[in-house]
Amino acid sequence: MKHDPAKKIFDLLQFGEFGDVNPSITDSATYTFMQAKTMTETFEGTAEGCFLYSRHWNPSNKYLAEALAAMEATESCWVTASGMAAITTTILQLCKTGDHIVSSMTTYGGTFAFLKNYLPKFNIEVSFVDITDLDAVEKALRPNTRLIYTETMTNPLLQISDIPALSEIAHKAGIPLVVDNTFTPMIVTPALLGADIVVYSLTKFINGKNDCVAGAICATADFINALANVNDGTAMLLGPTLDPLRSSSILKNLHTLHIRMQKHSQNAAYLASKFKETGIRTIYPGFEDDKGHAVLKKMLNPDFGFGGMIAIDLITSDKAAEFMEKMEMAGVGYLAVSLGYFKTLFSNSGKSTSSEVPIEFQKKMGLSEGLVRFSVGLDHNIEDTWQRIENCLRDCQLI
Ligand SMILES: *Cc1c(COP(=O)(O)O)cnc(C)c1O
Repeated sequence: MKHDPAKKIFDLLQFGEFGDVNPSITDSATYTFMQAKTMTETFEGTAEGCFLYSRHWNPSNKYLAEALAAMEATESCWVTASGMAAITTTILQLCKTGDHIVSSMTTYGGTFAFLKNYLPKFNIEVSFVDITDLDAVEKALRPNTRLIYTETMTNPLLQISDIPALSEIAHKAGIPLVVDNTFTPMIVTPALLGADIVVYSLTKFINGKNDCVAGAICATADFINALANVNDGTAMLLGPTLDPLRSSSILKNLHTLHIRMQKHSQNAAYLASKFKETGIRTIYPGFEDDKGHAVLKKMLNPDFGFGGMIAIDLITSDKAAEFMEKMEMAGVGYLAVSLGYFKTLFSNSGKSTSSEVPIEFQKKMGLSEGLVRFSVGLDHNIEDTWQRIENCLRDCQLI
């Protein structure tokens, strides 16, 4: 039977201390022990079920982590204070000085900046490749390559990574495949397709409210325990722990994720087809003639569509700016970075979220300066939204 991530979350029985239907919030940094011996054993990692200190683990974070692990079909999970914390903690746990990473050339701008500008401090080298070119990925591997890094749906060009094929390449080399699934929760379950570690920015679709930043690392119990090891675990020692008040609110939002993803996908499919009809170059992996369509289709969990992200190419950044300002005035949504919000958000990628990527890289990866990325919202009347967009296109002489 196919994996049903929504059912996995639905079936969890998580109660509060007094039978509360929402798990209790742990409002404590430290925890008391009745016996000194138990504290020693907890420190040594030989006692189960005790909490020591909230940077290490706390019950509220554990509830959210358990729900995410169930959704992702991984043994375990650790929740972080941001998506970048999840990504950097994972990479620093896997790599040491002198190591090498193969990464998709198109990734989230912050990830790209970390790989390109920050890791050289530790003498860690990164080869950036077109992740859809499997030969190029294999050729980029070196004896000291420690991981292959990609995003299921890459930002901002919405390319699709072939997770089964990439995991085969990684596993043949004896290294893990790390996948950022931020754009496609519910839609794709990377761990069931061969990914070893799945990282998330919970800030986006999973929380869906734009009221906080948060992240998660979903992986084997061994990897998560190693991250939280008091002596040498990257999570324990760098301390990017999520605040338990936040994990509690994110957990409640997680329970509506399946409905939201369906609506985001439906609305995005509608707007994408309308944009395409105008003749403007439109990128949307739900199109049958999209380069990544067949691969995405093969990886999908049923019922959640092809995601809420679309991109259109207006050729110049001036045209993109004019059009976005008009759309904001017309109430289509907000000119803002980020995604997965209930309102539509749009931004000119080359001048915003991918501005960390040098121009020559932007050219190489086919990122037009006029690319406008949309995170399509939960609009009840998407036909009306399109009417507004169409008026803006006309005002800007784009149609
Ligand atoms: C936003 C984002 C991140 C970073 O997450 P933060 O929560 O902002 O730290 C990483 N990857 C992708 C794909 C993102 O969209």
